[in-house]
Amino acid sequence: MDTKITLAESEMPTRWYNIVPDLPEPPPPVLHPGTHEPVGPDDLAPLFPMALIMQEVSQDSFVDIPEEVLDIYRLWRPSPLYRAHRLEKALDTPARIYYKYEGVSPAGSHKPNTSVPQAFYSAQEGVKKITTETGAGQWGSALAFACSLFGLDCEVWQVRASYDLKPYRKIMMEAWGATVHPSPSDLTSAGRAILEDHPDSPGSLGIAISEAVEAAAPHPEIRYALGSVLNHVLMHQTIIGEEALLQLAKVDEQPDLLVGCTGGGSNFGGLSFPFLREKMAGNMNPTIRCVEPAACPSLTKGEYRYDFGDTAGMAPLVKMHTLGHDFVPDPIHAGGLRYHGMAPLVSHLYELGLVEAEAIHQKECFDAGIAFARTEGILPAPEPTHAIAAAVREANRCKETGEEKVILTALCGHGHFDLASYEAYLSGELIDYDYPEAAVAEAMERVPVIAD
Ligand SMILES: *Cc1c(COP(=O)(O)O)cnc(C)c1O
Repeated sequence: MDTKITLAESEMPTRWYNIVPDLPEPPPPVLHPGTHEPVGPDDLAPLFPMALIMQEVSQDSFVDIPEEVLDIYRLWRPSPLYRAHRLEKALDTPARIYYKYEGVSPAGSHKPNTSVPQAFYSAQEGVKKITTETGAGQWGSALAFACSLFGLDCEVWQVRASYDLKPYRKIMMEAWGATVHPSPSDLTSAGRAILEDHPDSPGSLGIAISEAVEAAAPHPEIRYALGSVLNHVLMHQTIIGEEALLQLAKVDEQPDLLVGCTGGGSNFGGLSFPFLREKMAGNMNPTIRCVEPAACPSLTKGEYRYDFGDTAGMAPLVKMHTLGHDFVPDPIHAGGLRYHGMAPLVSHLYELGLVEAEAIHQKECFDAGIAFARTEGILPAPEPTHAIAAAVREANRCKETGEEKVILTALCGHGHFDLASYEAYLSGELIDYDYPEAAVAEAMERVPVIAD
């Protein structure tokens, strides 16, 4: 009985997969926030190292992973793929459930798959310091870890709601040498503007991005790093799906359904894009489904149009499913899923009908997370409980129909720093937030109108 499907170090893929050249239609261009004209590499140079900008617009299907990055990946990669026998048994389902576990990384999530190359390319180009935002603290810890390995300074704006709820994430970042501020902060004009109107603002990823961008852009030795959303980030994460393809092949399985939680779309894209390549090539035919929080449902409720990646409107305009760049989502426990937009690539795939989406409330997700912990042993982060809940829904459907579907998901992080959330759940205090229709409608009025 295969429970843990491993790869040898020598079997680890050595290339990232870039889905862009394989798409039936190219994704819409990124626009300058001021001129609304398509951006060129020079426009992005104040923010990102050139190697990453070139990856962002790359037309190569595969990009070699630098040897220095592979060396660090080998600290925890290849990551294990598990068959969830005990969860299947508890659900009494004929479905076969597999999960790719990314919580084995030093930071406890999939985020180091991209923080390591981002820090590597930055160091190579002479950058001294990287600024960033973090929601639940996972991205901030992943970047702090990577910066420490390459001798870079790291300054993090952590969304206030998580800063207060998850103090240990902050300490972890500091242990790796980073400086951490709650966002909104009084250190940037973007933060001060929010605090003036809303002194008690719980913050949002959009606000924290504005602060980190503002702190980086004017200084040539400082660059900014984003933990999700952008093409190069999703590409770095494809190591997850490339490994999973090899692992499933070892047990002679093909997935019928892939589910992944989507905040900005990076763990979902990382798992699913290699499978989508195989699907587009006619080698398999899985259904591929995004799962998002009902309180912040950018794909299922958002409009597909150009919007800013950040709240203050300093970041480039990208075409994506958005709830409005200054929409502040309710403080759900899955802090990593509280983003107003979705990766342009995932949004584009959704428009093309290549992926589907569903939204789930947090209580159902925590129910699934606890059921998972009590059968499989691993306490999941609140974000992937969304994917687990979707897998459980499907497994229950299979129980009714008798279908032996193969379900694959990414367990993209553990929940060891999310115990305050589990405490709220276990004491019955966790609440579901209705979809905030009025707040979204109001935020959408401030989204710029861009002619296609
Ligand atoms: C950051 C994070 C997410 C959300 O980001 P994606 O880019 O959508 O993957 C989800 N889960 C975990 C564990 C995270 O750290």
